[in-house]
Amino acid sequence: MPYNNLSTDERKEALKILYSNAVAGIAVSVLVSVALVFAFDISNENINHDKIVWFGIIMSVLTLRTIDVGLFLKTQKSNKPYNTNSYLIRFAVGCVLTAMSWCGYAIWFHSTSSTIEVTTTIAILSALAGGSANILSGSRFTAILYSFTLLAPYSFLLMLSSDHYQHILGLLGLTFAFIMIASSYKSATFTHSAIQLKNQNRELLNEMENKVEQRTEEIYRLSNTDPLTNLLNRTAFLKNANKQITDNPKDPFALLFVDLDGFKQINDSLGHKVGDKVLKEIALRISNVCNQQLYKCRWGGDEFLILATYQTQAELFEFANKVLQSIGAERKTYKYQKWVSATIGIAMYPEHGNDLNTLIRSADTAMYHQKRMAKGNINIYSDSLKLKQEREYLLSQRLASAVEENGLRLVFQPIVDSKTNKVTSFESLLRWQLDGENIFPDEFITIAEQYGLITELGLWVIDQACIQAKKFSHLQPQIAISVNVSVIQLQDPDFVTKVLKIVNTHQIEPKNLHIEITESVFAEDKLTFLTAVKALQKQGFCISIDDFGTGYSSLSSMLDIGVDIVKIDRSFIQNMDKRGLSIIHAIVQMASSLDFMVVAEGVETIEQANTLTNIGVSHLQGYYFSRPMEVDFVDAYLHGQNKLCS
Ligand code: C2E
Ligand code: CA
Ligand code: CA
Repeated sequence: MPYNNLSTDERKEALKILYSNAVAGIAVSVLVSVALVFAFDISNENINHDKIVWFGIIMSVLTLRTIDVGLFLKTQKSNKPYNTNSYLIRFAVGCVLTAMSWCGYAIWFHSTSSTIEVTTTIAILSALAGGSANILSGSRFTAILYSFTLLAPYSFLLMLSSDHYQHILGLLGLTFAFIMIASSYKSATFTHSAIQLKNQNRELLNEMENKVEQRTEEIYRLSNTDPLTNLLNRTAFLKNANKQITDNPKDPFALLFVDLDGFKQINDSLGHKVGDKVLKEIALRISNVCNQQLYKCRWGGDEFLILATYQTQAELFEFANKVLQSIGAERKTYKYQKWVSATIGIAMYPEHGNDLNTLIRSADTAMYHQKRMAKGNINIYSDSLKLKQEREYLLSQRLASAVEENGLRLVFQPIVDSKTNKVTSFESLLRWQLDGENIFPDEFITIAEQYGLITELGLWVIDQACIQAKKFSHLQPQIAISVNVSVIQLQDPDFVTKVLKIVNTHQIEPKNLHIEITESVFAEDKLTFLTAVKALQKQGFCISIDDFGTGYSSLSSMLDIGVDIVKIDRSFIQNMDKRGLSIIHAIVQMASSLDFMVVAEGVETIEQANTLTNIGVSHLQGYYFSRPMEVDFVDAYLHGQNKLCS
């Protein structure tokens, strides 16, 4: 087949060229045949009759071809698949039949034709052949066959003629036939390669379009999903949630702020790879609980946000519970023994906020407060929380400028040797007076931590404590000062350098600065904690574990860091008649083998002081000895002490 080397698309293209030119070709054939039949000698009835018969034949061929053209155009318009080969064959047959009709005309009427008629006929055939080279360039085979059929037979006939003139005409016709065959061949080859080139370009274009589409999808996926969990990322979640508000401003929904409990421990003890696996598993569990329509995202670290629609509050609670249960569910197939739980804070639209930022902040606040009260539960944002949040925000604003406004000061509580009652150190405790009101440290320290103020504030405390320590040391050499340091301060990579600079400025020996760190930091970020503690100890600072017994520290953790001082939480001292005593006993024994000093906090009575001294607690602190005192009283206190102890 002449088209075997063309693809279907290329054949379609060739067909398009052939059929679109066919109309012109057919029209020319009609015009010329009318002229031929009716323009020459119509007085001869015989000839006239034969010509009419011929006219009937060619008209039938041309009509069939016109129908074929119509059919093709219709098929093409309908975009339905069609057999290109059958159209090509039909077209070729139509053309060859037309050519045969023309050739037939010439041969049929040759014997009765005048010289003018013969000349005209050969000229017309040559003209038709000439035109076909372009018109039929869509099919090389058809074009060549058409030219050949048109010219060759009649030219042969003329060449055989005894008439010299006709002989010459035949020779010319045959020569022209070969020229036309060559020209058709060339023109068809050109069209053929043009079609192939066009097709290749289209393939290239399609390929490029596909690639662009793939890339666009990839970019969309990358910019919208969290790579680790495949949930939405922050940006995409915000976009979708904002759309929910603008598209359906009247539909209520809830935002669930899900924060994992104990995830840091997993990260620290089992490594980040395991941590990542856990996050992936949690994301999967969350996705399994949420139906497809809900937006869920990884908000950051171990925090997830879910946007949930609901009918009743009971339904919402049920859903939140399902999320909690699925996150906390132990699976036999899951090999990590320590599993996490989660705390959820919920804010509802529109009750708790009209915009997304407020809602997220409210859900976060609800979660945060729940975490402080009891982890692993659900908390819905409320008006009292709102008031609390507003107060916290206000206090945070004022706290930021409290140092400049001279609203902050330190008070000092002595820590005494249990045997001699001599002061060995002072714990510095921060006080804040705001517009005449004393704000409790338990409240403002948390705010400072939450609003990112603690790092600066903590350094100010250390600086002030060192200034005072320098003064106290004039009254009692080698007296130490202890400062409370929040775990957030330890996260500052320059913390140790900064503290070192402060003690150097005030010429305080590092061993006389005791750094009190709350025990709960063991649970939060063990690695940061250990690194900072090691660095501080390397510089000679004393590390003291505050509120011991209330948090998570274990014997192995103590061995790990080799702390210098352990401060037993006052709840044990206040419950000494119950379990407290045996625990204190155990700590004292641990102290002698692990070589750390023990301070009992919150000693309020002489009985407590005596019992603790008898068990072997080396240092005591509490209201019994002194409440935290203003700096101006420290002088007098130390003088009195010195008198007592001398
Ligand atoms: P803390 O480090 O455990 O401090 C001891 C707290 O116990 C102090 O409360 C002190 O006044 C109180 N206290 C001492 N003796 C007794 C006693 O015999 N009975 C009773 N009931 N209480 C006693 P304060 O000053 O209200 O401080 C509360 C907490 O605020 C501190 O607990 C500490 O965690 C934090 N804090 C205070 N100042 C700072 C600071 O400068 N930086 C940081 N990060 N935290 C601080
Ligand atoms: Ca303390
Ligand atoms: Ca304490």
